[in-house]
Amino acid sequence: MNEKKDCKIVQDLLPNYIDKLTSKETNTYIEEHVNGCKECKKILDAMQKDIQLQEKKLEKKKVKYIKKYNHKLRILKTTLLSIILILVVLFVAFPGRKMVIIKSLEDKFQVYEQQSDNVYIKALMYNDSNLQFTYENYYKDDDLKKYVMTNPEADIKVTQYFYQNEIKQFIEEPEGKRLIIEPRKNAALPPLMNYFYNDSLVGTFFMSMDYKITTSDVNGRECYVFSRTYAKPETKIDIYIEKDTGLVLQSAQIGPTEEDIALTQYEYSFGTVTDEDMQEPDATEYRLIEDN
Ligand SMILES: [Zn+2]
Repeated sequence: MNEKKDCKIVQDLLPNYIDKLTSKETNTYIEEHVNGCKECKKILDAMQKDIQLQEKKLEKKKVKYIKKYNHKLRILKTTLLSIILILVVLFVAFPGRKMVIIKSLEDKFQVYEQQSDNVYIKALMYNDSNLQFTYENYYKDDDLKKYVMTNPEADIKVTQYFYQNEIKQFIEEPEGKRLIIEPRKNAALPPLMNYFYNDSLVGTFFMSMDYKITTSDVNGRECYVFSRTYAKPETKIDIYIEKDTGLVLQSAQIGPTEEDIALTQYEYSFGTVTDEDMQEPDATEYRLIEDN
C-alpha cells in the first residue's frame, strides 16, 4: 500500500523530473525509488524514449526547413545573377555597342575640329531630289570669311564677305547686280557642327539612347546613320556620319509624308582656303546700297 502510494507520487513527478524542473532532493528520492521499482522504471524509460523521439522529429523538421530555405536562397541567387547577366548582355548589345561607335566617331571628329581654323565646306540642299540651294562657307583664321549661296532655279547668287565690323553682300539676280554693305552684328558659328552632344560619357550615353544606328553610304563613302523620330508631326531625321572621319556627309529629314524629303550633302576641304579666295569682285558693276 505504501509502495503504491510512493509510485503514484513518483509517477506524478516524472514529467517534471524529465524536464529537469525538480529539486536535487526530489531527484534523489525519484532515482532511489525508480532503481527499486520495475513499474516506475518502465514508465520513466518509456517517457524518456518518447521525448527523444520527439526531439529527433523536431531536429528532422529543422533540417528539412533549412534545406528548403537554402534551396530557395539558391534559386533567388541564380535568378538575380541571370537578371544581371541579361542586363549586361542587353547593355553591351545596345547602348554599349552604340557608345563604342559614338566614342570612336567623336575621337575622329575632334581631329578635324582642331583643323577647322581653315576649312571650306560646301552644302548641297535637295528637296525631292531637286537641287535647291548650294552653300559654300570659307573659314580662314578661325572665322567665317566668305559665304556663297546659289539658287540655280531662281538664278540667284549671293556672296557675302565678312569683315570685323561689316558684311559686304554681292547679289547677282536676273534683275541685276546689287551690293549691300551692312554692319556685322554676330560672330560666326563654328564651322563644324558637333553632333556629339557635350563630348562626355553622359552625353555619349544619352546619344546612344536617342539614336538608332545603322550603316549605309553616301556616294560610296561608308557611314553610320544616326536616326531619330519626332512624334509630332511624324518626322524622321537621318544623320550620315562618315566612319573614317566622324564628319557629317549627309542629313535627311523625312516626313510628315513620305514625299517630304529634305536632303543636305556636305563636302569638306581642310587647309585649302587662301587669301585669293577672299578677293571681292569688281564693285563697280554693282549698284551700291548702304544699310545702317
Ligand atoms: Zn514504483
